[in-house]
Amino acid sequence: MTTFDDLGVPARIAGPLARRGVINPFPIQALTIAEAMAGRDLCGRAPTGSGKTLAFAIPLVARVGKGRPGRPRGLVLVPTRELAAQVSAELRQLAEPLGRSVATFYGGMSISRDQRRLRQGIDIAVACPGRLADLVRRGDVNLGDVDFVVVDEADRMADMGFLPEVKRLLDATSRSRQTLLFSATLDGDVDVLIRRYQRDPARYELAQTSEERNDVQHLFWHTDAAARVHVTGDVVRSVAPAIVFTRTKHAADRVARQLQRDGVGAVAIHGNRSQNQRDRALADFTEGRVHALVATDVAARGIHVDNVGVVVHFDPPATGKDYLHRSGRTGRAGAKGLVLTLVPPDKVRDVKSLQHELSMPSGVDRVALEQLPTTSPPKPIVTRLPQRPHTSVKPARKPSSQRRRPAAHGRR
Ligand code: ADP
Ligand code: MG
Repeated sequence: MTTFDDLGVPARIAGPLARRGVINPFPIQALTIAEAMAGRDLCGRAPTGSGKTLAFAIPLVARVGKGRPGRPRGLVLVPTRELAAQVSAELRQLAEPLGRSVATFYGGMSISRDQRRLRQGIDIAVACPGRLADLVRRGDVNLGDVDFVVVDEADRMADMGFLPEVKRLLDATSRSRQTLLFSATLDGDVDVLIRRYQRDPARYELAQTSEERNDVQHLFWHTDAAARVHVTGDVVRSVAPAIVFTRTKHAADRVARQLQRDGVGAVAIHGNRSQNQRDRALADFTEGRVHALVATDVAARGIHVDNVGVVVHFDPPATGKDYLHRSGRTGRAGAKGLVLTLVPPDKVRDVKSLQHELSMPSGVDRVALEQLPTTSPPKPIVTRLPQRPHTSVKPARKPSSQRRRPAAHGRR
């Protein structure tokens, strides 16, 4: 089991959490905390109760600087008073041992209390947009030093008509800020916020319901080196379109070639190919001229390819995170998904520890083509991630993609 310590959470934060019985991070936390602590923007969608508050509270308190009077450094925007109170309570427990202060601002409280608090100097402001905008207009607070922003429940903020206010507030913060956004949906108005106010955000989406999660089947098959290409070919023939992941660029090229020879239309994308070649490969794939896209992890990170019928881990992924990342490209939007990991004899142990890490049933089965679904999913959708200039913050380690939690089944 992963611990907060494993994610790089400082002991001064992990300690108090452990004393409250919060020891193992929930999935959204395990996925996002390390990246957010490294300075990356991120947007996340996860069900209610999945632990989003700590997912942003930990990086916020770990990174936030000291504020001066009237000039906080961290800002959490929330749609309702209830949420403001709840988030503040959580933040305060983490922030106080680190010598960081938290203040809460929302309508219905005395504004002179707010003014007094601001004059004393606060590090983190938790606020509903209306009241904070008021305080800005009155000159009681200046957001120019705010370099860590969280927008929580952005979809509700949009539903309640707060977006114009939210945008004005974000416009008043530091241009070199880090921005985290959480929402039940990441499309529509929320997508506008993401595009306008986030820089190359890592995007995480956890399944909303158990029903949705169960739409993805995870299979693990013993497959030695000699059989891997043929098994992959058989799988693609019954469940296209497919994304096939290899560890190296060289392997991507080789597997694409071998699949072609096996009678399966395949193209490779990886970092050694020109933009032009990559565009053409993606177009061949989305337009159905080829049925398999063979990719390295790195190449696949700069794009979203959704709606594929099957993700084949031709080489097992290096980490649980990579497994989720690769596997997230199938079973989206209600379509059935399939994830197949080919496990050579020398990787059985690694794969079992990966299954353990992801709380999946443990085990590797023999090749069983009859387990494959017979219907094909809709055409794949490919979108390039918005590229934004990096003017500030630490450089992103890697572009993002969409991730989801694996279904809790797959082995029989
Ligand atoms: P969300 O914002 O995703 O709806 P919350 O952040 O409010 O969910 O978390 C829901 C509950 O789970 C809270 O009571 C919180 O204290 C608890 N919680 C969060 N993370 C953990 C964890 N890693 N271990 C145990 N409990 C946790
Ligand atoms: Mg929440």
